[in-house]
Amino acid sequence: MKEKGILLIISGPSGSGKGTVVGELSKDVNYALSISATTRKPRPNEENGIHYFFKEKEEFKSMIENNQLLEYACFCDNYYGTPRDYVEGKLNEGLNVILEIEVQGTFQVKEKYPEAVLVFLVPPNIKELKSRLVGRGTEDVETINKRIKRALEEMEFLPKYDYVVINDEVDFAVTKIMAVVEAEKMKSFRHLSLMETFKGEI
Ligand code: ADP
Ligand code: 5GP
Repeated sequence: MKEKGILLIISGPSGSGKGTVVGELSKDVNYALSISATTRKPRPNEENGIHYFFKEKEEFKSMIENNQLLEYACFCDNYYGTPRDYVEGKLNEGLNVILEIEVQGTFQVKEKYPEAVLVFLVPPNIKELKSRLVGRGTEDVETINKRIKRALEEMEFLPKYDYVVINDEVDFAVTKIMAVVEAEKMKSFRHLSLMETFKGEI
């Protein structure tokens, strides 16, 4: 049987560079990026089915009612959720599945998948975070301020994550996350069946 992939959750303050880092990571053939559903309106560069599945509130509600979401949460006035089937399918194919989600959703997934690996991506400092959010140019000042306030609240969850990766340079951050996944794959608890397999081979 094919070894299951790692369920990799990446969270971190808005503007820390999650989308950028995860975009690079998902270019690797061993990784599959889960596309979330959201009630947020698309940004000018965003396409339905590529960046998100953009939904009306009613549609999102019906996904919840039909148990189609692995987790969901409200973040800065919009709903976001992870479609369940894609995640389970890709893990069974042996791919590492990336969820780029906020903190509340992370702990819902951790309850269902205790073996998930939790990475918290942070900017080098708050000044850089602000400048990245402003530089991205996708939100108005009021929304940026809301997201910075939420960023500070989210930092409180840092100790609950398995790893912290500082996103100073995108390439370094990607290399560090890949190193985490490779090490996680060797954790003994993921290989307990080897004991029986080896006995059976005698
Ligand atoms: P998030 O998904 O966490 O909200 P983004 O990936 O959209 O963040 O990144 C926010 C902005 O910061 C974008 O304009 C992106 O190009 C830029 N950015 C991301 N990572 C870095 C980095 N390591 N150095 C400089 N700018 C970065
Ligand atoms: P953005 O609006 O910047 O794309 O995303 C806002 C926040 O929602 C980010 O912290 C992002 O990680 C999070 N997010 C995106 N998709 C999901 C999801 O499916 N579930 C949860 N819980 N959070 C998500």
